[in-house]
Amino acid sequence: MSATLMPGLERRLKAEISGEVGFDRFTRGRYATDASHYQIMPLGVVMPRTVADAGRAMTLAREEGVSVLARGGGTSQSGQTVNRSLVVDCSKYLNRVLDLDVAGRRCAVEPGIVLDDLNRALKPHGLWFPVDVSTASRATIGGMVGNNSCGARSLRYGNTRENVTAIDAILADGRTSRFGPAARDLSDVAPTLRPLAAELLAIGAREADEIEARFPKVQRRVGGYNLDALLPGRNDLNLAHILVGSEGTLGFSTRIELKLSPLLGRRAVGACHFGGFYDAMEAAQHIVKLAPIAVELVDRTMIALARDIAIFRPTVEQFVRGDPDAVLLVEFADDDWDENLRRLKRLAALMGDLGFAWGKEGAQRGGVVEVLDPKLQGAITEVRTAGLNIMMSMKEEGKPISFVEDCAVPLAHLADYTARLTEVFEKHGTRGTWYAHASVGCLHVRPVLNLRLDKDKAAMRAIAEEAFAMVRDYKGSHSGEHGDGIVRSEFHEMMFGSRLVRAFEHVKDRFDPTGLLNPGKIVRAPKFDDRANFRYGPGYHGEPMAMALDWSAYPGAGGGFQGAVEMCNNNGACRALAGGVMCPSYRVTREERDVTRGRANTLRLAITGQLGPDAFTSDEMAETLRLCVSCKACRRECPTGVDMARMKVEVLSARVEKYGLSLHDRLVGYLPRYAPYAARLSWLLNLRNALPGAAVLSEAVAGFSARRTLPRWRSDWFKDSEFHSLPRRAGEGGEEEAARNEAATLAPSRSRDARSCSPVSGGGEKDVVLFADTFNRYFERENLDAALAVLVAAGYRVHVATPADGAARPLCCGRTFLSIGRVDEARKESERTLAALAPFAARGVPVVGLEPSCILGFRDEIPAIVKDERADALAANALLLEEFLAREAKAGRLALPLAPLAKRAVVHGHCHQKSFDALAPVETVLKLVPGLAVDTIESSCCGMAGAFGYAADTIDASLAMGELSLLPAVRKAPDDAIVVADGTSCRHQIHDGTGREAMHVARVLEASLLAGKVRVRGAD
Ligand SMILES: Cc1cc2nc3c(=O)[nH]c(=O)nc-3n(C[C@H](O)[C@H](O)[C@H](O)COP(=O)(O)OP(=O)(O)OC[C@H]3O[C@@H](n4cnc5c(N)ncnc54)[C@H](O)[C@@H]3O)c2cc1C
Ligand code: SF4
Ligand code: SF4
Repeated sequence: MSATLMPGLERRLKAEISGEVGFDRFTRGRYATDASHYQIMPLGVVMPRTVADAGRAMTLAREEGVSVLARGGGTSQSGQTVNRSLVVDCSKYLNRVLDLDVAGRRCAVEPGIVLDDLNRALKPHGLWFPVDVSTASRATIGGMVGNNSCGARSLRYGNTRENVTAIDAILADGRTSRFGPAARDLSDVAPTLRPLAAELLAIGAREADEIEARFPKVQRRVGGYNLDALLPGRNDLNLAHILVGSEGTLGFSTRIELKLSPLLGRRAVGACHFGGFYDAMEAAQHIVKLAPIAVELVDRTMIALARDIAIFRPTVEQFVRGDPDAVLLVEFADDDWDENLRRLKRLAALMGDLGFAWGKEGAQRGGVVEVLDPKLQGAITEVRTAGLNIMMSMKEEGKPISFVEDCAVPLAHLADYTARLTEVFEKHGTRGTWYAHASVGCLHVRPVLNLRLDKDKAAMRAIAEEAFAMVRDYKGSHSGEHGDGIVRSEFHEMMFGSRLVRAFEHVKDRFDPTGLLNPGKIVRAPKFDDRANFRYGPGYHGEPMAMALDWSAYPGAGGGFQGAVEMCNNNGACRALAGGVMCPSYRVTREERDVTRGRANTLRLAITGQLGPDAFTSDEMAETLRLCVSCKACRRECPTGVDMARMKVEVLSARVEKYGLSLHDRLVGYLPRYAPYAARLSWLLNLRNALPGAAVLSEAVAGFSARRTLPRWRSDWFKDSEFHSLPRRAGEGGEEEAARNEAATLAPSRSRDARSCSPVSGGGEKDVVLFADTFNRYFERENLDAALAVLVAAGYRVHVATPADGAARPLCCGRTFLSIGRVDEARKESERTLAALAPFAARGVPVVGLEPSCILGFRDEIPAIVKDERADALAANALLLEEFLAREAKAGRLALPLAPLAKRAVVHGHCHQKSFDALAPVETVLKLVPGLAVDTIESSCCGMAGAFGYAADTIDASLAMGELSLLPAVRKAPDDAIVVADGTSCRHQIHDGTGREAMHVARVLEASLLAGKVRVRGAD
């Protein structure tokens, strides 16, 4: 399956460097794309452990006649990070801060460090690297230097170039040189570099007139080489600036020295409203005179998108007044707070002078909404980003394509430019949504095109030519922050003229005469619309496939599976190393293979036949998905909603069909089927955890790690048949049990058996169905007992869900079967569950449960495997206990006699709770307990993820995931804090990792009820 193109180079690299080397098709495929619409298969991939490794890799590549492509996060939008080269990925190992001079506000870093990581390290010192690109969570400093990246606040801080002081780079001849500040006579430049530096200065001098005449005079010019840095007469010569923005074509950066800035203080934001888009663009040139640090545009489409989303609506309501066509968010950040307030007043006055007033109609309706609350300011930033992401998440084959998105024009022309470009789009039958940086005249816009169609490809060229001609006429820049890559290098002649393009070539040839470094970018580029370089190139098509789940919301082969996979646009948000919860496996391994993007790319290449026959069911594919814990974080946090957990089910299903099941998978998947028998043998099976050697045997025979205890079987498991009488907890009695029973007597009815309550006639306002899942039923029945006690105490008539066919085997959601790829068996379980629950759900009776992955599966997987209205009804009525109680409390229908219990609860949310926005209700109901302060741990997946944490081949990743944030946070929690975790496996991981017992929220509420009862009795 794996075709190695360069066996000699691969062998030498493996022998001579300490870093990782991958030449197989799957690895190369994962490095064939960046965030542009291009795709070029590289020849191999290296992850150097040291700078020496990187140097050696370059030497070997040169000797074998192969070019080299440096790579950071691979988030470039212009195709500069794809090539038929040896890719050298700096992000995994070359990511250290090498030196920090706080007083001098400088630092030196390796190229692979991510901007957010660097800023986290600088924050305690009151400093930051202020080039705040939107991709800060995954963009590396090496990549930012490569692209001369620009942040939203470039008006104050400049671009990357203005913030880089020196670069150590390996050049094409293998020598390392230091590029930095230099005297004009080059007397302070190393003798080895002096000839090159002298020639560069000569080019600058020779082309001075042309540079003066042709280089756009806008701040946002990142295209071409920075010849303007070489102009004679400048007394700030810095040779590093010729490398900035050179897209890896001149040298390989190994050490980058940066200028740092003090952290921003409080900011004042004015949201300027405009009745017309043109007027907003026209106003930008006047607004910047008030010296804001940013002016960001949000247009009507963005506002509408944000208003449609429940979590963003409240934010929009707070800063958007009425129905504007555009809002400019103007940010002031002077050190003097009063000065910021004065500028806001001046902003309001300016809007008035420009003729805008709230009382007017049409384009002149407008004014300023002041936003001073930092929280709201943060929320607005999130809305802005999310709005763009939603635009990117259209499911059709046509997508917003970035190629003219990066133009910057002088502010005086901004209004005309945007109006004319809108007309160009219309002429070519498309449209675009505008966003980004009005302050510097750089407005991003992406027309929607389907690059598989010849007509759209032709439209792309026509739009590009018309747009770039317009930008040239306005003396603007066609590359405003995203760089040249493949998409804009072709047009340099049009922007800079042929003389300067020859000068660019001269620079390239002097640095890199043999074309070792990222050839075909900036100079001698291929045609930007050559389909051979497109992600959806000639012959691209999905193979027909029968899928196990429903993908009909998407286009393409496999009933839409292809379209779902193609939703990944490579923006790299899943590579964030902190904040949010996506993607835990990447946070542990830092491998492109183990991130959502790498998985989506591998799937896309596999189903379109680009990884050889049978790639979808191959071992390499299984390996690609092995560490995916199906946490569903990507489903929520990926800007385009890539749902890898669901895609993994397809691969597992196809592999099971082909290879059958291992014993390990059988034991995991079929648990609900054998559990009633196993529970009867609990004394025997529990010996696995007690007898020396038994655990080792279970690892050898069934793949369960000997380093984990397995869940304890209970002989007193939760039996449906008990629910003609009161719930009883094993080993419990006396005062507490009496209190529990008394609470239970508060129930309006003692009927708790679904069979005893006809769904047709019995469902009333206070009815609720309790679904007992397999895990709580057999291993932790006290949670179910607690839930019953709470519901009954709150006055609900509880029906315990039992099979409609009267069979003895309890109901099951089918999750364990999905986790091993047995979708057919999961469907059978779902059908049974639907037969029992759908009649209740159809009448609006809430179906309440405890285990997040089971209950949220009623909303997610069951409708994807059983397509009918019963599944939809269940999805609409299935609630976690805390969701139900929070809803009832909000409606004023919940009266629980809760008593103080502890001072603090520390909550860990199950991944699926986070994915389905179902964590807040846990906090809400815990706060019902008097005096209980609730802290939620900022945790990603706990690492257990069902059977993942038990398996011998994944236990190390499981433990590492736990250590990312959850386990350290639990260890730090005060001894008397209650640790709350609703997931069975989360509780197990917390126990194993910290020795502390976490509780389901149901038990916290029950304990609080009991505390009240005991107190009342005591008073008696
Ligand atoms: C949704 C989205 C939003 C974005 N927003 C912004 C924004 O606000 N501002 C902005 O400027 N850009 C933005 N970008 C573009 C991109 O994210 C930035 O340019 C980013 O800085 C690239 O960093 P990276 O680590 O991903 O670089 P990569 O794509 O990996 O590399 C970029 C270039 O640098 C070169 N390079 C990498 N490492 C080295 C090295 N060690 N030595 C020499 N050359 C090297 C590469 O060869 C390549 O040519 C955005 C992109 C996306 C997808
Ligand atoms: S999976 Fe989502 S977040 Fe990751 S790169 Fe693809 S689109 Fe971006
Ligand atoms: S489901 Fe979780 S582990 Fe799997 S790709 Fe998505 S975020 Fe990563």
